[in-house]
Amino acid sequence: MLTVNAYAAPSATEPLVPTTIQRRDLGPKDVLIQISYAGICHSDIHTVRGEWGPITYPQVVGHEIVGTVTETGSEVTRHGVGDRVGVGCMVNSCRECANCRAGQEQYCLKGNTGTYASVDRDGTITQGGYSTHVVVVEDFVLKVPHAIPFEAAAPLLCAGITTYSPLAHWNAGPGKKVAVIGLGGLGHMAVKIAHAMGAEVTVLSQSLRKREDGLKLGADHYFATSDPATFDDLANSFDLIINTVSAVIDLDAYLSLLALDGTLVNVGAPPQPLPVRVFTLFGNRRSFAGSGIGSIQETQEMLDFCAEHGIAPETELIAADAINDAYERVLSSDVRYRFVIDVATMA
Ligand code: NAP
Ligand code: ZN
Ligand code: ZN
Repeated sequence: MLTVNAYAAPSATEPLVPTTIQRRDLGPKDVLIQISYAGICHSDIHTVRGEWGPITYPQVVGHEIVGTVTETGSEVTRHGVGDRVGVGCMVNSCRECANCRAGQEQYCLKGNTGTYASVDRDGTITQGGYSTHVVVVEDFVLKVPHAIPFEAAAPLLCAGITTYSPLAHWNAGPGKKVAVIGLGGLGHMAVKIAHAMGAEVTVLSQSLRKREDGLKLGADHYFATSDPATFDDLANSFDLIINTVSAVIDLDAYLSLLALDGTLVNVGAPPQPLPVRVFTLFGNRRSFAGSGIGSIQETQEMLDFCAEHGIAPETELIAADAINDAYERVLSSDVRYRFVIDVATMA
């Protein structure tokens, strides 16, 4: 076992504190990664505060991880010492169910093993990336292209893949009108990726505060949802809407913005249900869908796509002792557009 530094939540209501945790000895197919950077996803906050249900404390979160391989198990073939690698939201799956066999292990029918707060195969609870090292089975480790600046690469492992996957699945591209609700960590990646795919992109944000940024990120249009006129102006106009909001929104108002056969895909994960009036779906034969992260193969495809298109998240680098302040800023929609922890400050 390796004892490593980490930041953990002691309970649902206390701030995160420095601590140490154990990483398992390397199995034959495991790699040991020295973590350089870890992004702060809103899911980390939902999780440690118990908003999605009770968890076991202390808990280390963080599932946007980049680092360097420092040791490999005896049967590892995909990664070598010194490689720049990434780990996202899952670290294993059953590999046997229909979805795993179809290469969609994020939808493992037995539940994928989350990078944190999940029961691992050895019965322990997985601990995430706010930590100096992690041990992960090689199949769930991604290669981070050199074209992507390392500290900016971390958020791609969750915010990047979670928006790339539905944009690719629902064919965002030339001639398609795509709207993104919420310009936070996921939202700003949705804008960059949809723009690079060739779609016409509209941001639907609570206010016009971040309008200039949104247009620079690649949006063609920017509207404030606090202005009721927005919903009249944009009625029946989008082919695809990606909802990244972490709270409950008036879904019917947004569904009414879909054109014929349009789809609203929810990636935001509020703890409470999102009610829908079926009559809103009848109009324009609209669809309401959900999407969870992406497969390992698709995550690699997304990383390569971002490298090829010169896409990288907009990040604000923080020291580990600023994590709790960063959480408060995320909660007040004051993130531009992803906090990334400099893990060297935990050493
Ligand atoms: P984030 O950075 O906090 O962004 C969320 C954005 O939503 C905010 O910046 C804000 O944008 C908007 N917003 C926040 N509260 C709102 C409210 N009450 N009403 C309307 N808009 C509001 O969070 P994130 O890290 O992007 O994560 C977003 C959500 O996706 C979280 O629930 C997270 O758990 C979930 N998630 C899901 C998956 C998946 O696999 N499906 C993966 C990762 C994350 P404006 O200021 O522009 O309005
Ligand atoms: Zn995440
Ligand atoms: Zn499975």
